[in-house]
Amino acid sequence: MTKETFTFQAEVSKLLDIVAHALYSHKEIFLRELISNASDACDKLRYETLINPGLVDGSGIFQVTLRADKKARSLTISDNGIGMNRDDLVETLGTIARSGTQAFMDALTQAQGPKKKGKAKKDDDAPGAGIDLIGQFGVGFYSSFMVADRVEVTTRKAGEDKAWLWTSDGTGEFSIDEAERDGHGTDVTVFLKKDDKEFLDAPRIENIVKTYSDHISIPIVLAGDGKDAEDRTLNQASALWTREKKDIGAEDYKEFYHHVGHMYDDPWLTIHNRVEGVMAYTNLLFVPSSRPFDLFSPERKTQLKLYVKRVYITDNCDELLPGYFRFIRGVVDSEDLPLNISREMLQHNPALTKIRKALTKRVFNELKKKAEKAADEYAAFWDNFGAVMKEGLYEDFENRETLLGLARFRSTADDGLISLADYVGRMKDGQDAIYYISGDDTAALAQSPHLEGFKAKGVEVLLLTDAVDEFWIPSVATFEEKPFKSATRGGADLSEIDKPKADDDTKSDGKDSNSGDAARVEPLIAAFKVALGDKVKDVRASERLTDSPVCLVAEEGDMDMHIERLLKQHNQLDAATPRVLEVNPDHGLIGKLAEKAKQAEGIDPTVEEAAFLLFDQARIVEGETIADPLAFSRRMTAIMEKGLG
Ligand code: ADP
Ligand code: MG
Repeated sequence: MTKETFTFQAEVSKLLDIVAHALYSHKEIFLRELISNASDACDKLRYETLINPGLVDGSGIFQVTLRADKKARSLTISDNGIGMNRDDLVETLGTIARSGTQAFMDALTQAQGPKKKGKAKKDDDAPGAGIDLIGQFGVGFYSSFMVADRVEVTTRKAGEDKAWLWTSDGTGEFSIDEAERDGHGTDVTVFLKKDDKEFLDAPRIENIVKTYSDHISIPIVLAGDGKDAEDRTLNQASALWTREKKDIGAEDYKEFYHHVGHMYDDPWLTIHNRVEGVMAYTNLLFVPSSRPFDLFSPERKTQLKLYVKRVYITDNCDELLPGYFRFIRGVVDSEDLPLNISREMLQHNPALTKIRKALTKRVFNELKKKAEKAADEYAAFWDNFGAVMKEGLYEDFENRETLLGLARFRSTADDGLISLADYVGRMKDGQDAIYYISGDDTAALAQSPHLEGFKAKGVEVLLLTDAVDEFWIPSVATFEEKPFKSATRGGADLSEIDKPKADDDTKSDGKDSNSGDAARVEPLIAAFKVALGDKVKDVRASERLTDSPVCLVAEEGDMDMHIERLLKQHNQLDAATPRVLEVNPDHGLIGKLAEKAKQAEGIDPTVEEAAFLLFDQARIVEGETIADPLAFSRRMTAIMEKGLG
C-alpha cells in the first residue's frame, strides 16, 4: 500500500490555523500535552496486559523518552504504550476526537461572535481570539503545531505487526503511510519552527517537565547525546497520589488535575486521603472552579479514574461517586480489588460500593466546611454546580437532609445566596410555608406580579431558575416540616401572615383580607367567566396582587406554569392546562370595570373586551404567547382610540 492523503475535518483545520498563528505565551504546554498522551498510552496498555500479558514486548517497563536532535531541529517524544493502527490514526489525529477540544472550539465561536459578512479579513479568525482559550482548555495533540512546521507520528499498535507514519504540516491535510518500528508504541517528532529552537535545550526541556509533568507516574527520560550527556530521568516517576501530602505542592496538584481531569482551570477544592483498615484505598479528588463543558450532557458520566494498586483500570468509573458529583475529577486507587478486574466486573462490586459511600461522605464534609468557613467561595461553587447537586435531592434519599443543608438559593429578600435554614429563620409570624416562584431568570422573577402581595407583607420568596427545581420540590415537599409552596399556584392565603397579635381573634379588619372589595367585584368576576369561557379554569379575587390588575395562577393540583412551559419547549406536552385568572379588587381599573359590570344588563361590551385584553396581558407578563395576536391588537387599538376621545 502506498501513501494516502486525507483532509482534516473542517473544525480541525480551523483549530490548527488558530494554534499555528496564536502568539500564545505558554507555547511549552505542547510538551505537557504530548507527554500526557504518552503516559495515557502506557496506562492503557498496562490495563490490556492484565487480560493479555503477551501483548507487551521488551522489558515491560513503561517509559517516555525525549530525544532532541539539534541538526534536524526536532524533538521526539517516544513511548512504549498501546500505539495506534491506521484506523486509530484516521479517527484520532484527523478529527476532533476529544470532547475538550470540541469545547474549545465552541467557546472560541462564542468569543468571536457571528462572522461579519463582507469583512472576511484574516484576523477575524486568528490570531488573538483563541489565545486565552488555548490555555483554558488545552487542545491536546494539536498544540504541537504551536511550535512545529511539521509533525511526524510513527506508531505501532500492541499486538499488531504493521507500523504507520502519520505526517502533517498542519495546513489542511495529513498523510498516512506504512512504516517500520521496533515494538509497540509511538514516536511523535516535532520539527520545530526556527523561532522555537529553545525546546531543544536540555535545561529548558527539564524545566518544562518539572513544571508540568513531574506528577507523571512513569519515568520521563531525556536521552543523552551518546557522548557527554547520559540518559536522565527528569521527573519523580511515582504516582502523585502515593506521595506524602507534605511533599506535594499546590502547583503539583494543579498540574496533576489538568492531566487527569482534562480541565485547565484551578482546582477549587482538593481532597487527598489515604485510607487504611478494612478497606484500603487512596483518593485524590478535585472540585473544579469552573463548569466542565459537558456538565449537562445526558450521559451524566462520573469522571473519576480508577486504579488498582497503581495500575490504571478505567477512566470513568460510575460506581465511585453518585451522578450528581459528576463534576468531580481525580483518581481512586484501591488496594483491595483484584488486579485482573475487568471493567464489566466493576458494576455492583461490593468493595466499590463501600468506597463510594465513604467518598460521598468525605466530599459532603469538605463542602460543609467550605460552606461554613468561606461562604463567598462556597457561593461561587454553588453557582457552578448547585443545579447538578440538586439532582441528589430526588435521587439520593439517604443524603437528602445533607443536600438540603448544603443547598443555596436566591430570594426576594437578599442579593446573595441563602440557605433554607436562613429562610425558615426569617419566616413571618403566621407564615406556614416556604414560598417559591420558578422561571427562567431571577431578575424577571423578582418583577413578577405574583409576588406583589408577598412583597407588601414582607414575605420572602425563593427565586428558582434551574429546570431541576421542578423535580426535587414535589419529591422533597417539606423542609423542617414546612411545605414548599408555589407563589403562582393555588390560593395565596396571605391573610394570616403577620397579623398584629391583638387582632388574632377578630375576624377581619377589612385591610388584610380583601373580602369587602372581593364582594364588590363579584359581578365583574361573573362577567369575565362568561366572556372567557373555557379559556380559564376559574376567575377569582386575588390576595397576591397589589399593583397589577390581573395575573394567571395554576390551580392547586395542576402543573406549575413554569414546568408546563419547559415541557412544551421540549415537545413533551401538547395541550396547556387552563389557568385561573385572578383579578385585583384594589386596582382602579378593576374597580371601574366592576361598576360597569354591576350596572349592565347582560354583558357590557367594554367589560367583555377588557376580559380578553387583560387575559392576554396576563399571558404576556408570564412570558407566554397569546393565542390571537391580531384580535389583541385590534382590541388595543380600539381602546386607545376611545381613550383619546
Ligand atoms: P486526549 O489526550 O484528551 O484524548 P489528544 O488530542 O491529546 O486528546 O489526543 C487525541 C487522541 O490521540 C488520544 O485520545 C489518543 O487516542 C491518541 N493519541 C495521541 N497520542 C498518542 C500516543 N502517544 N499513543 C497512543 N495514542 C495517542
Ligand atoms: Mg491528550
